[in-house]
Amino acid sequence: MTPRLLRLRPWLIRALIPANHIGTYMLYSDQGELFYIGRSDTDVQRRLIRHAADRRGEYFTYDIHHTVTSAFDVECALFHIHAEALSNRLHPDKPDFHPITCAFCPYPSTAIPYRKNAPYGVSRRPHKSQWSSQ
Ligand SMILES: [Zn+2]
Repeated sequence: MTPRLLRLRPWLIRALIPANHIGTYMLYSDQGELFYIGRSDTDVQRRLIRHAADRRGEYFTYDIHHTVTSAFDVECALFHIHAEALSNRLHPDKPDFHPITCAFCPYPSTAIPYRKNAPYGVSRRPHKSQWSSQ
């Protein structure tokens, strides 16, 4: 991600990010608090301009990716690292036509339970000794 917060304004997004690029991004409040992460598999510039038009946040950071699988991996990592702070309710969706799984889910081979209190965040992951009692 970009090392500093950038104002979520269409002109700045257009100046920094070329059109039609895969990307991940993070949105921040006017207090600079992270509250949302996202990904576009087709055009992250367009997605961020829409967020700006909707006044979805005050600041953003972003990354450009060469492949949708790379973008998915990064989005999943961000989702798990920042789970406690995010308003995202759903786990990141897989890119279309790519049989890829999240590398950070505790049970990657099974269906991901999309529950609000699911142990997405590392800090919520139960200790191994707690698993055996369930
Ligand atoms: Zn996951």
